[in-house]
Amino acid sequence: MAALPLLGAVEAGGTKFVCAAGTGRDDLEEIRFPTTTPAETLGRALAFFREQEKERGKLATLGIGTFGPAGVHPGAPDFGFITSTPKPGWKDTDFVGPFRAAFDIPVAFDTDVNAAALGEGQWGAGQGLHSFAYLTIGTGIGGGAVIDGRLLHGLLHPEIGHLRLPRDPARDPFPGSCPYHGDCLEGLASGPALAARWKCDPGTLGPDHPAWELQAGYLAHALHNLALTLSPQRFILGGGVMEQAHLFPLIRAKLHASLHGYLVHDRLAEQNLDSYVVPPALGNRSGILGALALARALLPEPR
Ligand code: ZN
Repeated sequence: MAALPLLGAVEAGGTKFVCAAGTGRDDLEEIRFPTTTPAETLGRALAFFREQEKERGKLATLGIGTFGPAGVHPGAPDFGFITSTPKPGWKDTDFVGPFRAAFDIPVAFDTDVNAAALGEGQWGAGQGLHSFAYLTIGTGIGGGAVIDGRLLHGLLHPEIGHLRLPRDPARDPFPGSCPYHGDCLEGLASGPALAARWKCDPGTLGPDHPAWELQAGYLAHALHNLALTLSPQRFILGGGVMEQAHLFPLIRAKLHASLHGYLVHDRLAEQNLDSYVVPPALGNRSGILGALALARALLPEPR
């Protein structure tokens, strides 16, 4: 039997990079390192894959899930670039070019959250579904989606973290921390927003702290809007903030109250909400496994 092709995967986050190589999810070799300058960071990633090629033979394809905004449309002039990111040093960085030059292989390039959605679809909480959304609520807020079996892109790519939400200044005087919009979803509900509003590490706030009612309210608002626009069969919520597992029942209840019976489907019935809004089944592995799934999707048929 011919050897299975070696796949490369990169999960490029704003604070750390994960690189992995393997023929599937069971034989991955992996490295992680902090995100510094583009030259240093991409250099370390390239060195890892060169080393893997030495040990395991030629890479067949590479999948990259990246922080952004990024150019994700093959054929567009900015494909493969980090574009308008506020992250210092990374604006207009050619991400894919150096990998193509070094390895001469097909490279898939998508957002970290679209990759995570794909990973959850293949191996996790999105299995068997044709439409679902993945949101990460952590240092930032982002979202990706598979709709009718395809990753959602559009004009650029979705930026679910920057949805506008109603904020009652009497209840929540915090003006929001997004440098672009102030009190958008990320500005109100990311980890740094929580820390700035409550002036402490949000991980130290007990489950009865009013922070969580407010937080669940913002997230339920966002899911309300997404349920009405994307019509997903499930929401998968990951990221550091969602490690506060007590948020899940709060969000489900508020979402149910907010939709107010308007959307009628078994999945949205009160007794089924536990499987409508769920944590990722792959934990913090959704992103890197999703990048692997992006690489695998580039292989010629049959797989
Ligand atoms: Zn914003």
